[in-house]
Amino acid sequence: MKSSEIREKFLKYFESKGHTIVASSPVVPGDDPTLLFTNAGMNQFKDVFLGFDKRPYTRATTSQKCIRAGGKHNDLENVGYTARHHTFFEMLGNFSFGDYFKHDAIQYAWELLTEVFKLPKEKLWVTVYAEDDEAYDIWNKTVGVPAERIVRIGDNKGARYASDNFWMMGDTGPCGPCTEIFYDHGPDVAGGPPGSPDEDGDRYIEIWNNVFMQYNRDEAGVMHKLPKPSVDTGMGLERITAVLQHVHGNYEIDTFVTLLAAAKKAVDAAGGGDCDKDSPSLKVIADHIRACTFTVVDGVIPSNAGRGYVLRRIARRAIRHGYKLGARKPFFHTLVSALVKEMGEAYPELRQNEQRATEVLKQEEDAFFRTIANGMEILERALGTGAQQIDGDTAFKLHDTYGFPVDLTADVCRERGVTVDEARFNALLDEQRQRAREAGKFKMAQGLEYSGSPTTFHGYEKLIHDTATV
Ligand code: ATP
Ligand code: MG
Ligand code: MG
Ligand code: MG
Repeated sequence: MKSSEIREKFLKYFESKGHTIVASSPVVPGDDPTLLFTNAGMNQFKDVFLGFDKRPYTRATTSQKCIRAGGKHNDLENVGYTARHHTFFEMLGNFSFGDYFKHDAIQYAWELLTEVFKLPKEKLWVTVYAEDDEAYDIWNKTVGVPAERIVRIGDNKGARYASDNFWMMGDTGPCGPCTEIFYDHGPDVAGGPPGSPDEDGDRYIEIWNNVFMQYNRDEAGVMHKLPKPSVDTGMGLERITAVLQHVHGNYEIDTFVTLLAAAKKAVDAAGGGDCDKDSPSLKVIADHIRACTFTVVDGVIPSNAGRGYVLRRIARRAIRHGYKLGARKPFFHTLVSALVKEMGEAYPELRQNEQRATEVLKQEEDAFFRTIANGMEILERALGTGAQQIDGDTAFKLHDTYGFPVDLTADVCRERGVTVDEARFNALLDEQRQRAREAGKFKMAQGLEYSGSPTTFHGYEKLIHDTATV
């Protein structure tokens, strides 16, 4: 089954259960200052869960474009390292707004997986929130999942590598206990079952999360009950596709086979010669072209602040990975057309904006190619000293003069087992910001035109220091 058919089957299944099919919202959330990018299917329904907004339906189903590249749900550092994480992915979801609750949600999920998708029951594991006896009993007694494949997991406070059965959209907003379904890819793949010390492998992969939305968390961390208990679920389309296409990782599914081949071709043509087709760098490029294109298509352009800076960081990371494979001239923007061919039918906005997206990314790439060689030389020299940490002054110079976002520098260093002195880097950034503010005040005092906006730096600072919710 192709991924497009899987998406369709999911939506049709929930439509047959009384759900209205709702279109994906853009990756840029319209009116939510707590979010930089859409990170889950429930985002567009946040106000419905909170009781501020009413829809003509109480059940909905979507395939939502999501970006997780910073903040509470941040997978940027996982791309190229795990078989299951993307910065951009599609989240399939079904939602109940005060309609059905735990019983029906669990039974729908089980029926879809085992009867429609026909997954072998013995390969499925489930986790429930530690204290949620009700969910445990539904899985065990009603559905019949044996106790040895049900794991109780508490609140791990969003720890990146630990299962966490209390789902939160961000630091504030709708949240609640959840139950997750895992698929066992078998003993050929490394990793342990959920909740075990080696759960951070790619053997037992979380495919679907069912959240029992019951609270709204405020800025002080206080939980307020929602008007009605609701359901919000999310299943990664790429992950369920891997299972159904009998491959062990997201990068082996139909969509990525095409994008990886296009990435290799583009890198080879730009100087890579015949680069290693299994290089993790190609996966990073194939992943990042999706995140960058969808972001541009939804209205963002690369800049030094906020969303534009996230986009710039992702694009430059991808370009650096191409450079690592030998590319010496722009290649990244040429991948837009391969992506449009692959996903343009499901997302017509890609087709409508193909040319603009190509041009925007080309401009960014042209700019970075002007400085990347010199920047890499400086970084290589610093790495060549054998130091275990790159000093903050070098990282700052790379950032300030060569356009290397600090996470890009850290990405190169990580490949060599080296870290970056980010404390010193941040101190230098603060000093620069302070100087810009002083200069601004001075100019204003003299009645001169003020050209540098301090708010520009706030966005920047936010991203690097408190990593605003993405
Ligand atoms: P993980 O623990 O694997 O990082 P998660 O618990 O952070 O996933 P949820 O917030 O529960 O993910 O999102 C719902 C579903 O979306 C997951 O069960 C998974 O199938 C999918 N998903 C989450 N993050 C990613 C990602 N970065 N790339 C692809 N799919 C993802
Ligand atoms: Mg995660
Ligand atoms: Mg998880
Ligand atoms: Mg989860």
